[in-house]
Amino acid sequence: MKYKLALIFVLLFLCSSCALGDDRTMIDVLPDTKPETVSPLASIDAEPETTAAPETTAAPETTAAPETTAAPETTAAPETTAAPETTVAPETTATPQTTDAPDSNRTSKGFPITVVDGVTYIDGTLIVNKTYGLPADYPQKSLTPEALNAYWQMKQDAAAAGYTIKSISDYRSYYDQRYIYNGYVARDGQAAADRYSARAGHSEHQSGLAIDLNSTAFDFDQTPEARWIAEHCAEYGFVIRYPKGKEEITGYMYEPWHIRYVGVELAEKLYLGNGEFMTLEEYFGISSVYAD
Ligand SMILES: [Zn+2]
Repeated sequence: MKYKLALIFVLLFLCSSCALGDDRTMIDVLPDTKPETVSPLASIDAEPETTAAPETTAAPETTAAPETTAAPETTAAPETTAAPETTVAPETTATPQTTDAPDSNRTSKGFPITVVDGVTYIDGTLIVNKTYGLPADYPQKSLTPEALNAYWQMKQDAAAAGYTIKSISDYRSYYDQRYIYNGYVARDGQAAADRYSARAGHSEHQSGLAIDLNSTAFDFDQTPEARWIAEHCAEYGFVIRYPKGKEEITGYMYEPWHIRYVGVELAEKLYLGNGEFMTLEEYFGISSVYAD
């Protein structure tokens, strides 16, 4: 028990120190969630390593709010199973002017849009980008269990193949994000900050479905680890969310370190091979633009 208390103090210290930094890499550093096993519960009592104190305290949070990734199928319109092929034009009766609005029923490619408690789901997939935000009180407080388990499996398999993968930032609260974004605006100006940092309520990290891996250095994609991640993350349900050359579509610069959990089925549809991905915006036919 005394040992657990000590771990909590260590975690509190780490959290408070990384929130004070202004350097991008430092701000993003959060404890690695690396477990000893795939089960989120199994690591709670795992023998901590001397330098890995934050890891054991991070795991218990993952059992909180497990329902947040559940697709709101129950509230979807009856026609939700009839997702059209992406090459098929939307129904002519749809009003094109409103297909990207969060409260309309269909995307420009005909996928159903559902909004539940201020959270937008498209064809059952939670969407966070510049068009679609999350409420400040969105209840997620950690990575979702699905995302965490997928990450652990991927990390283990990567290690077996000789690659070290670690999380340097995963869940971030609305208020963490506001602090980070405001710091970037103060440093670089809003236009520049908007290219690489989300405004509060628009970060995928708040959803508990996104992880920044290894390094936010822009040459990270030159590393063997980045190559392995790009070529294999879809097998675990992740996508490279902000691919190279897609800034006009996603609203963000290329981020080879930022992966988003979408589930294996969708991830493998989005994976184009050779480490390249279609964006969620292209696949679903949605925008990523701030309203103001
Ligand atoms: Zn990220």
